[in-house]
Amino acid sequence: MGFGAHPARSCADQGGLSRSRPPLQASPPSPVQAARPGHGPDGRGDKVAARAGDTPSLRRRRASRERAAAMLRVLVVGAGLTGSLCAALLRKAIAGPLYLALWDRAGDAGGRMITAKSPHNPRCTADLGAQYITCTPHYAKKHREFYEELLAHGILEPLTSPIEGMKVQEGDSNFVAPQGISSIVKHYLKKSGAEIFFKQCVTQINLRNNKWEVSKETGAPEQFDLVVLTTPAPQILELQGDIVNFISELQRQQLASVSYSSRYALGLFYEAGMKIDVPWAGQYISSNPCIRFISVDNKKRNIESSEFGPSLVIHTTVPFGVTHLERSEEDVQELISQQLEAILPGLPQPVATKCQKWRYSQVTNSAANCPGQMTLHLHPSLVCGGDGFTHSNFDGCIASALSVMEALKNHI
Ligand SMILES: Cc1cc2nc3c(=O)[nH]c(=O)nc-3n(C[C@H](O)[C@H](O)[C@H](O)COP(=O)(O)OP(=O)(O)OC[C@H]3O[C@@H](n4cnc5c(N)ncnc54)[C@H](O)[C@@H]3O)c2cc1C
Repeated sequence: MGFGAHPARSCADQGGLSRSRPPLQASPPSPVQAARPGHGPDGRGDKVAARAGDTPSLRRRRASRERAAAMLRVLVVGAGLTGSLCAALLRKAIAGPLYLALWDRAGDAGGRMITAKSPHNPRCTADLGAQYITCTPHYAKKHREFYEELLAHGILEPLTSPIEGMKVQEGDSNFVAPQGISSIVKHYLKKSGAEIFFKQCVTQINLRNNKWEVSKETGAPEQFDLVVLTTPAPQILELQGDIVNFISELQRQQLASVSYSSRYALGLFYEAGMKIDVPWAGQYISSNPCIRFISVDNKKRNIESSEFGPSLVIHTTVPFGVTHLERSEEDVQELISQQLEAILPGLPQPVATKCQKWRYSQVTNSAANCPGQMTLHLHPSLVCGGDGFTHSNFDGCIASALSVMEALKNHI
């Protein structure tokens, strides 16, 4: 996701939308682990041999230390679609005791599949990144179980409202997420049972005693047996520490060759009762230098209600995004609003707005000759995934997460 990320900028610049948790000082077992018999937080059920002079409290502490030492500690960096899916697949694949953590620099889950909420009414939402999911016949077969699961849970529904100018290929199906596109990511995060920490920006990865010591902008570094990175490729190259030496020259070139388009998204949130009187739910614009796509986002997702207002999403063209990448969000918002007024004159005043810069929007060149992932180190494992290793859409992320699992299968 863009998040305004820039090599010279600190992670704190990325800001967040809503939720944050305090930095983790000492890592407790995940709630899922804690609930397992024999792994309770009070040590009940643990078979720890008694030693002369042991008091019950000493014995409990020793049991807890032994449990922690036996537990595989896994970190996934990035709470976008690839990271959340990797976390869910790792949870399923690892049978033994597991502490699974997921860190993201942003303030909420979704990455480039973010759904922003109106500060006036959390039910008024807007998909600022990915808009809908196009499933080709090839992926309908290959990723059938993923589509079936999301459809069965009502997380995906067929796109039924009209999107003008959309290119439709024979055999393709299109889906929307009624609760917002980030609900897909949140589904996999919940399934993973991972401890999730927002506003945790990874800065360094070092090898210490055969474990990965991962540093973040705030709080103490933590050690893990296995790390999966799912940030865009330029953000992998920004990381400092021993990781720099584990990236071979060829891998560095492959990562550096991943390129992305840049664009802005503007979300406009309206009060309940307001009407956006257009005959479409989305429209591709081909004749404007600034605006490429507009959607009445709630209508696109079939969620019109008297209890919350409509929301509009505007995506800029890539040339506009590239030209204005370093401008302030206020300036950019003003420019987009002027062009919007020319396309849709007389729109009502929104009650809230959100301007999002996507520095890393969609992959235009993926890493050459990479099987959906890049293994930087095997023992202990350090693997990268994400759409930079495949292609920029739902199926690209699934393909990458499955490749990450394939790379790790003999090491977990
Ligand atoms: C404007 C736009 C429109 C799109 N439209 C569609 C569409 O209609 N359909 C479709 O299928 N796809 C679409 N896509 C593409 C799709 O959104 C992406 O392919 C997908 O979301 C990528 O997911 P990811 O998990 O690989 O990466 P990301 O979603 O980018 O997740 C990476 C995460 O890593 C975090 N991160 C980065 N650096 C650090 C760090 N140092 N420490 C901690 N965390 C870090 C980021 O905060 C981010 O949450 C669109 C994307 C954009 C931007």
